[in-house]
Amino acid sequence: MTLQLYNTLGRTKQPFEPLEEGRVRMYNCGPTVYSFAHLGNFASFLLADVLRRYLEYSGLEVVQVMNITDVGHLTQDDLANAQGEDKLEKAAREERKDPFQIARFYEEAFHEDRKILNLLPAAVYPRATEHIPEMIALIEELMSQGLAYESGGQIYFSIERYPRYGILSGNTTDELIAGHRVDTDPLKRGPLDFTLWKRDPAHLMQWDSPWGRGFPGWHIECSAMSRKYLGEVFDIHTGGEDNIFPHHECEIAQSSGGGDRVFARYWLHRRHILVDRRKMSKSAGNFFTIRDLLRRGCTGLEIRAVLIGTHYRSQLNFTMESVEGAREAIRYLREFRVNMDGLPQTPPPPGALDAIEDLARRWDGEFRSAMDDDLNVSGALAAVHGFVREAYKTCGERPSGERAIRQLNAWDRVLGILDPQVEGASAEGSGREPEGLSDHEVEDWVARRAEARRRRDFAESDRIRDWLRDRGIAIKDGREGTRWHRVL
Ligand SMILES: [Zn+2]
Repeated sequence: MTLQLYNTLGRTKQPFEPLEEGRVRMYNCGPTVYSFAHLGNFASFLLADVLRRYLEYSGLEVVQVMNITDVGHLTQDDLANAQGEDKLEKAAREERKDPFQIARFYEEAFHEDRKILNLLPAAVYPRATEHIPEMIALIEELMSQGLAYESGGQIYFSIERYPRYGILSGNTTDELIAGHRVDTDPLKRGPLDFTLWKRDPAHLMQWDSPWGRGFPGWHIECSAMSRKYLGEVFDIHTGGEDNIFPHHECEIAQSSGGGDRVFARYWLHRRHILVDRRKMSKSAGNFFTIRDLLRRGCTGLEIRAVLIGTHYRSQLNFTMESVEGAREAIRYLREFRVNMDGLPQTPPPPGALDAIEDLARRWDGEFRSAMDDDLNVSGALAAVHGFVREAYKTCGERPSGERAIRQLNAWDRVLGILDPQVEGASAEGSGREPEGLSDHEVEDWVARRAEARRRRDFAESDRIRDWLRDRGIAIKDGREGTRWHRVL
C-alpha cells in the first residue's frame, strides 16, 4: 500500500505521489511570534513533523519550509481582511519593547520549545519581515493580472475576479455574504475582498512600497515565501484547521497565477485540540504553553507522545492523565531497550536471529500500513507494542536483542518519543526529574558535558545536551565557554 493522505482539497483520502520523484516539497504555516506558541500550535507543527519523518522513513527526501510570522497579523483576521488590533504591536506596547525585539525573543522561544518537543528542524524558517520585496512583487503581479486593485493607498484582492474562491473551504461567496461574515470597509469594492497591502500610520512596522509606506497582509506572506523556497507548485501544505478559512483559501487565490492553479497539491489540517474537554482559553484556565506544562512536571517527549497519539483529524483531549499514560508507554519502551541491551553475551540459540528478524519485518509491515493509512500513529504504536511483546518471548540472547533495539530505534525516528536517548546521561541514579533540576545539578551536568567534549566524545556530549533540553535547560556554547538557562 502506498501512503494515503486525507486532502482537505477534495475532502478525500488520496494516494500520495510527489511531483518530483523521490523528493517532497512541503510548506507549514508556522508560529506568529508575538507570544509563546501554545499546545494547539504545536499539535499542528507536530502533524508536519511526523509526516516529514515518515516520508523520510519511506525513503523520500523532504524539503520542509516553515514560516515565521513576525509582521504581526490582525486579531480579527477571520474576516480575511485587515481590521482590528495588531497583536505584535499590542505585545510591544505592553512589554515596552521594539516589535522586532519582541518577535526575535518569541522566535527564539519557539525554537527552544520545538527542540524540547523533539521536532526536527525545517530546511528554512523564512521570516516575513525579510521577504517584503517578494511580497510586493507578487502583489504587483496580481495587479497586472487584474486580480488586485488599489483603493485609498491600500491594495485589495478582488474576489469577484477569482470565481474559484471557496475551493478549499467549501464556502461560497453567497453564503459568506449572507452570513454577515463581512465588514464595511468603504475602500473595498467587494465585501469579501481582502487586504494585500495595508496603510496605517499607527502601525509600528512599516516598509516602503510602490503604494507608499505600509505593511503586508498576513496571507500574502505565505504565498510569497512558499513560492520563493518551493516553487509555484509544490506537494504539501499543512496548518491547523482554523487556517483553512480564510488563510489558506486566500493563499490559494493569491497563488493561482491568475488561473486555475492550486499551488499546493495536498492540504493537511490538524483538528483543533481540547484541554480537559474544553476549548483552550486563558479565561477558562486551561490555556497551556509548553513551558507551562514543563513547570507542571511533564517532559517534552511526554507532551509530544500525547499530541501525536490521537489521529490528527480526530479531536484530541489533552489531560494530565493522558500525560501519565504517555509517561508509562515511554518508560515501558525504554525499559525494553535496556532489557534487550542487558541480555547475557552468549551465542544465540539456533534460529534466534532469524526469529527476531522475521518478527521485526512482520511488525514493520504493520507499522508502515498504519502510517500509510493517513498517518495512523496510534496504529503504528500498537505495532511497536506488538513487536515488543513478541520480542520478549522470542529473543533470549544478546545478538538478537541488538536487532530488536535497532528496530525500535528505527521506528522512533518516525515517532520521536524515545529520543533523545536519556538512559546514558541519567545512568548515575538521578533518573527522570519531573520537578526540574537544581542549579547545582545543572552545573554538574554542564561540567560533565564539557569533560566529554574535551575527550571529543561528541555522542556523549550531545546526549547530555539533549537530556538537559528534555528538562527545559537550554545550553549555548560560546567563546567564553558554555552557558545555560532555563526556558521555563
Ligand atoms: Zn500561512
